[in-house]
Amino acid sequence: MTEDFKMEIAIPTDDLGYILLQCSHCGTHFKATPEDIMDDGVLTLFCPSCGLTSDNYITEDVLELAITMGQNRAVDMIYDELKRMEKQFKKGPFTIKAGKCPKHAHESPIQSGINALEVTTFRCCKRKAKVKPMLKITGCYCPFCGVKNYEVE
Ligand SMILES: [Zn+2]
Ligand SMILES: [Zn+2]
Repeated sequence: MTEDFKMEIAIPTDDLGYILLQCSHCGTHFKATPEDIMDDGVLTLFCPSCGLTSDNYITEDVLELAITMGQNRAVDMIYDELKRMEKQFKKGPFTIKAGKCPKHAHESPIQSGINALEVTTFRCCKRKAKVKPMLKITGCYCPFCGVKNYEVE
């Protein structure tokens, strides 16, 4: 098997162009725009709730889909191999029947969901993110610089 194993997963944005992120430390969901996340001025992202930086902000949805897609691809590869062997051993002392391709697991589309997040402006960076409304009351770390903001709009 020399074929490169490549997968592409499209993470959808919501109506306002935000993508859903999840802190791997506390599980808090928040949203930011791809422009801000990719911005050169933003080196790391901070969780608005616990203020820590996370190795990744991939949500469980995305992770699950990646695993399912990986499994489906593996099934295809094994089946292709069986098919190849079926041809190879057509006239031999033994034969191989690949049969029908096994069914794929359902790849459920990712929801940009979690709508109970409100757009919040972080004055320190003049950037916006969507966070849980509760964080506006208790204080909220800026996802882009990690400073705690107490009066956020
Ligand atoms: Zn967190
Ligand atoms: Zn900031």
